[in-house]
Amino acid sequence: MSKFKQEAHLELASRRFKERDRVEKLQDKLLSDEVYHSLNSKRIDLRADIARLVSQNQDASAQNAEYSQTVVAMEKRMEELGISKEELTINYSCPLCKDTGFVDGKECNCLKQLVYARLRAHCGALPTTESDLDNISFDFCPPENIDNYKQFYKFLKLMSEKFPDNTGKIVGVFGAVGVGKTYGLSILANNLMKKGFSVFCLNSAEMNSLFLKYHLAREADKADIWEPLIDCDMLILDDLGAEPIINNVTENYLLCLLNERENKTTCFTSNLNADALRNKYNDRIFSRMTHKKRSRIFILGGKDIRIN
Ligand SMILES: [Zn+2]
Repeated sequence: MSKFKQEAHLELASRRFKERDRVEKLQDKLLSDEVYHSLNSKRIDLRADIARLVSQNQDASAQNAEYSQTVVAMEKRMEELGISKEELTINYSCPLCKDTGFVDGKECNCLKQLVYARLRAHCGALPTTESDLDNISFDFCPPENIDNYKQFYKFLKLMSEKFPDNTGKIVGVFGAVGVGKTYGLSILANNLMKKGFSVFCLNSAEMNSLFLKYHLAREADKADIWEPLIDCDMLILDDLGAEPIINNVTENYLLCLLNERENKTTCFTSNLNADALRNKYNDRIFSRMTHKKRSRIFILGGKDIRIN
């Protein structure tokens, strides 16, 4: 179970216990009242009498009538004490699963939403909360490039359906500023997080500073810095190539990262064209990012970006 799901279960359990605790305290308060207490004892005795009489096929109508009167008297006393019936009812935040997180053995939507909120909070900045890959409007696409966009979104939908079992473990999206590269990947990210997968998105400047932090960290602290990059089901490196190359840091750790995420999905966007990106990094990095079998590359909004 992911740590976010564990947290979500704990959250639900805490809601459940808090609410039960509240009602129990109120019941204790009621029973500490002498009048209410004796009415309640009377009610319990009457219930036992009625059960006995019914089992002996005897008339219990008098006891039934007294029982009803006692209940009314109890309600009146409750009112006098300033406690309403509603207050004594357990209010679950999710009536469907009664805050257990499960309905008919299946995870309840409230649990999924709690997991999603946690995943979203740890994901990094995404430009949209949209998660629907089925109803993409292509109105914003330049008409001469619409086929690329359609291919791109078709691929994202397939990714979502097959995730995490995807053949394209690296997805690269090239194109100028504002053509919707990060937007598309973000829709996929939100879509996957709604299914409980973890996504971590950082831009290349953040990536660089994380690498540097890792490089300079004490040995004992390194894992905490590195693990979020490796553990997430999908990693988005946004605006790759815009960061300055730090000697012994940027390229070394980027290569490590790509290697260690060999069996996971890593996406990147770049405003540079492929040639410029190839010149920016050493060949090993570029060839991993654009590997024939493992990578899928998309070019949005531009005509002149070529990959050889
Ligand atoms: Zn629920």
